Amino acid sequence: MSEIYDLAILGAGPAGICAAIYAARAKMNTIWLEKKFVQGGQIVDTYEVDNYPGLPGITGLDLGETMAAHAEKMGLKPKREPVLAIEEENKVKVIRTKKNEYRAKTVILACGAAHRQLGIPGEEELSGMGVSYCATCDGAFFQDRTVAVVGGGNVAVEDAILLSRTCKKVYVVHRRDELRAEKILQETLASCENVEMVWNSIPLAIEGTEKVESLKVKDVHTGEVKGISVDGVFIAVGILPNTEKFRNLVKLDESGYIIAGEDGVTDTPGVFAAGDIRTKKLRQVVTAVADGANAVASAQRYLMEN
Ligand code: NAP
Repeated sequence: MSEIYDLAILGAGPAGICAAIYAARAKMNTIWLEKKFVQGGQIVDTYEVDNYPGLPGITGLDLGETMAAHAEKMGLKPKREPVLAIEEENKVKVIRTKKNEYRAKTVILACGAAHRQLGIPGEEELSGMGVSYCATCDGAFFQDRTVAVVGGGNVAVEDAILLSRTCKKVYVVHRRDELRAEKILQETLASCENVEMVWNSIPLAIEGTEKVESLKVKDVHTGEVKGISVDGVFIAVGILPNTEKFRNLVKLDESGYIIAGEDGVTDTPGVFAAGDIRTKKLRQVVTAVADGANAVASAQRYLMEN
C-alpha cells in the first residue's frame, strides 16, 4: 500500500501556491500536483497585476514566479503530473495520474479555470495563426499590425491597452454598449488613441487562409454584418472552471463551479475547493490566495475531527 498523505493540493495558481505555503507551515505531509510547467495559473497570461497589495505593477509572470519561489523556500514544489481522476476508497482520496496513484486523507482542488472559446468558424482553424487567447504571450507578433480584441471584461480591456502600445490599430469588439471592466481600466482604454470600440457586436467568423485576414461581426441591433480587416484576433470572453474531472466527486453549480463557501468546504467530506474553481462573487488573485489559506485551515480541522 502506498503512502497516505495528509493533504493533496491540485493546481499551482495563486490558490494552490498559497495552500502549499500554509500546508508547509502546518507541517502537513503534502503531495502537490500541477499539469503545467509554469506556476502561477492564469496570472501568467496577465501582463500586469496592479491590484495585489504591496506589489504595484508587477507582471503576472513575475508574481507567479515569486509566489512559487516562496512555496519552494518553505519546502514544497509541485510535481508536473496532470490528474486524470479522483476516487474515494474508505474515506481516502485516490488521485490517479498517467504514471502514478497518490493517496491522501484530504484534497484541495485549486485547478482554476481556462479561457472560454467563442465557438465560431475559423477560431480553431486559425488558432496560432492570428487567433490568440493571450495578448501577453502573443502580442509581440503583431507589432505595427491591426488586431481585434473580443470581450468587455478586465482581461479584454487590459489586453487592448497592452496591444495599443505596439499595434497600429486595435478594435475592441463587445456585445453590449457598456464594458464590464473596472472603471480605472476603462479610463486608460479611452485614452488610447489607436483603439476603436465596436459596440453591440458579436463575432460571427474569423476569416483567412493560412492566417487571420478579417473578423466578421454582426450588429445585434441593426443585424448589419461587416468584416473588419485584422491581422490578429485576441479572444478574452471569460473563463470556464476546470472541473470536468471532478463531476462525480463534488457538487457543481449550473456553470460548472464547485459549490463551496469561503472555508472551501464542499459537500464531499475531506475535499475542499480554493480559488477560481469554486462558487464566489469576486475572482481575483487576492481572493484566490485567501481561499488557499482557508482551505488548509479547513483541511486541518477535518483531520483533527476524523
Ligand atoms: P469576464 O469578466 O467574465 O468578462 C468576459 C467578457 O466577455 C464580458 O464582457 C462578456 O460580455 C464577454 N463575453 C462572454 N461570452 C461572450 C461571447 N460568447 N461572445 C462575446 N462576448 C462574450 O472575464 P475576464 O475578463 O476574462 O475576467 C475573468 C475573471 O478574472 C474576472 O472575474 C476578472 O475580474 C478577473 N480578472 C482579474 C484581474 C486582476 O485581479 N487584476 C485581471 C484580469 C481578470 P458581457 O459583459 O456582455 O457579459
